[in-house]
Amino acid sequence: MTPRVASYLESNPATPCLVLDLERVGENYDRLHAALPAARIFYAVKANPAAPILRLLVERGSCFDAASLPEIEACLEAGARAADISYGNTVKKPAAIARAHALGVPLFAFDSDEELEKLARHAPGAKVYCRVAVANEGADWPLSNKFGTPPAQARALMLKARALGLVAHGLSFHVGSQQTCASAYENAISTVAALFTDLKSAGLELKMLNLGGGFPVRYERDVPEAGVYGTRIMAAMVENFGNDLPDMLIEPGRAMVGDAGVVVSEAVLVCKRIPEDERPWVYLDIGRFGGLAETEGEAIRYRVSAEASGPLEPTVLAGPTCDGVDVMYEKTPCLLPRGLKSGDRVLIHDTGAYVTSYASQNFNGFAPLAEHYI
Ligand SMILES: *Cc1c(COP(=O)(O)O)cnc(C)c1O
Repeated sequence: MTPRVASYLESNPATPCLVLDLERVGENYDRLHAALPAARIFYAVKANPAAPILRLLVERGSCFDAASLPEIEACLEAGARAADISYGNTVKKPAAIARAHALGVPLFAFDSDEELEKLARHAPGAKVYCRVAVANEGADWPLSNKFGTPPAQARALMLKARALGLVAHGLSFHVGSQQTCASAYENAISTVAALFTDLKSAGLELKMLNLGGGFPVRYERDVPEAGVYGTRIMAAMVENFGNDLPDMLIEPGRAMVGDAGVVVSEAVLVCKRIPEDERPWVYLDIGRFGGLAETEGEAIRYRVSAEASGPLEPTVLAGPTCDGVDVMYEKTPCLLPRGLKSGDRVLIHDTGAYVTSYASQNFNGFAPLAEHYI
């Protein structure tokens, strides 16, 4: 938690809420830029689409990776130029493609034949890039089961893109979100570099490599610094491309905003569930449906602290709704003070990314998560 957030918490905002330090977002932008100065940064808007964040990043000179037309419009409203937006979702409605094209968005992603046909039809002449499937090992929140196409197929699709009158601009990959191994980028770079070479010998020279997101946040476990990723990515780029480097893009989402935010919640009920279960259960006023969706499978392990005293003991953490899956940490409980009682504040740290945008609309009558950008 940053000192600015700590000071804001003294005003006792109503819980649950997210308090996010914009100054930290600016620092994260600068840190990512310094780690990989050769790459243009396209902030992945879906991580947190709040207008104050978008406006700050516009001012910093960031570009944007948008997943939908409303995200594109939010970027434009925040002052971004259409030319600095990439429509990075590989699943788009024709009308959304046409509208983005008309607004001047220059860059579109695809990873299938049908999507390519749609782009040719509704964004004629646009720059397109194919998302290549790469290993997601090392990622706490993998994406590879849903996105990306194998290299051989990407090759055929890029040649087809050119034949359809599109600008076959480049390739992308995503090594999975919260990727804790820098080697995932090295392996992915060598895979796509082979494809660059292959396509060049087929007469198609690609100009751009989009390295996606995945840069991690320090939750419970330590992760390598951004600089480590930058150094190793750059070394892999030079090793694979020599002096013939393509334009590089990165699309950090989590690493841009995750550690800038804290969810402030309140314990609503503290109890022992059944005689066989020694552990206290703490039910908060926020849960999986209030925005903590990434606790599914206990995949993302947020640091949790409570304003209470006593020795730390394993504690099950659950949400307030009448839904059985609304339990955050049970298989591996959190360590919380024994003296924790209902009414005490519980802080869930580093929740600036993928929380507010996941909060449900009034499930069980609970309002979407309140947000304070300071
Ligand atoms: C979600 C997403 C990102 C952001 O990933 P992070 O792991 O949050 O950095 C980047 N690019 C694309 C295409 C995405 O879908």
